[in-house]
Amino acid sequence: MTEQTVCIPPRATSFRAVCELCASSQLASRGYLGAVVEGTLPLSRDHGHVTCGRGHEIRVLRALPASLVH
Ligand SMILES: [Zn+2]
Repeated sequence: MTEQTVCIPPRATSFRAVCELCASSQLASRGYLGAVVEGTLPLSRDHGHVTCGRGHEIRVLRALPASLVH
């Protein structure tokens, strides 16, 4: 099973991602409809995961703040 990962901005606590597995298994004419996953990640955490409506797990990684990249 393909592992999916999304990155969210340093200060984001909620996000929307597209489940590639769902997107690739439905008619292209529907676009991403039905494949969008919404999730939340507290600022106290730098990673987590969401599960789409069809049960695919997607890893969530928080991007490092620019001030910490150097
Ligand atoms: Zn899915």
